[in-house]
Amino acid sequence: MGSSEDEQVGFASLPSPLVELHDERLTRHGVHLQLKRDDLINPEIPGNKWRKLRYNLQAAREEGFSRLLTFGGAFSNHIRATAAAGQHFGFETVGVIRGEEHNPLNESLAYATKRGMVLTYLDRATYRRKTEPDVLAALQDRFGPCYLLPEGGSNGLAVRGVAELVSEITTDFDIICCATGTGGTLAGIAAGLAGQQRALGFAVLKGGQFLEEEVRRLQREAYGVATANWTIEVDFHFGGYAKRTLALDTFIADFHERHGVTPDWVYEAKMLCGLFAHIEAGAFSSGTRIIAVLS
Ligand SMILES: *Cc1c(COP(=O)(O)O)cnc(C)c1O
Repeated sequence: MGSSEDEQVGFASLPSPLVELHDERLTRHGVHLQLKRDDLINPEIPGNKWRKLRYNLQAAREEGFSRLLTFGGAFSNHIRATAAAGQHFGFETVGVIRGEEHNPLNESLAYATKRGMVLTYLDRATYRRKTEPDVLAALQDRFGPCYLLPEGGSNGLAVRGVAELVSEITTDFDIICCATGTGGTLAGIAAGLAGQQRALGFAVLKGGQFLEEEVRRLQREAYGVATANWTIEVDFHFGGYAKRTLALDTFIADFHERHGVTPDWVYEAKMLCGLFAHIEAGAFSSGTRIIAVLS
C-alpha cells in the first residue's frame, strides 16, 4: 500500500464542476449564480463529507488506528459517509446514533450497516454529553481504541479540507453560499476566501444562532484565528433539522423542473430556497456574482 495520501487519489473527482444557472429570477435582479457541484465528486459520499474526512483518515492511519468512531442523528449524511469511507479505506467503523433504535432501520442507517458500520444508540440526554470523558470512556471500553470523529465530522482537520474547495474555483465571485448543519463547511469555505469575498451559511436547524460560536471555534481549532467574512442566515430551517414543509417541497419540484437538478431536502434545498428569497427581495446589488455549493 502507498502512503495514505496516494491512497485517496482517484476516490473523488476533483475539482468538482461549476455550473452557471439560467433563471429569470436571477436575470431580473442582474445576479449571476453558479452551482459548485460538490455532490458529484463521489457517488457514495456528499462532497463536503469527503473533504471533511480526508485529512482525518490520514491522521487516523498515521496515528495507527484501525477503527473510526463517530456520532450522528438517524438521518446523518456524515454517518453514511464515514461508513462508506471506512469500508473503502479499510477502517472498522462505529456509529453512535442519537435516540432510540427503530426497526426496520431507515435508508441511511441500513446503508451504513451494509458498509460494515456497527451501530449503537445513546438516549438524548447521554447523547448531549457525548464529548464528556465518562461517555467517551464507556464507548472506548466497549469498542476498543478508536479514532474519534465529532458529530458531522467537523473539527480542525475537516475545516482545512473544506477550505480547499475555494482554491479550486478559478472564476471571480463575490459571495459563496452553503447549507450549515454543524458549521464545519462554512468555517472552511470562509477560511479559504480572499479580499472582499464573503460566505453566507443557511442554518438547516432551528435556533441556528449558536452556530456562530461554533464556526468561530472550528476556525480557531484549524488556524488559531477566526475570520469575520461570513454570516449565518437562521430563518430558513423549515421547521427544524430533517423537517420539511409544503413550501420546501414545492421549491424542490420547481427547481427540478427549471434546472434538472433535485436539491437534497435536508440541506441544499433550504439553502437555495433562502438564497432565492434573498435575491427576489433585492438583497444583492446588480452584478453580484454568487456561488452556491451543493454537497
Ligand atoms: C453535512 C452536510 C451539510 C452541512 O455541513 P456542516 O459542515 O455540518 O455544516 C450540507 N450539505 C450536505 C449535503 C451535507 O451532507
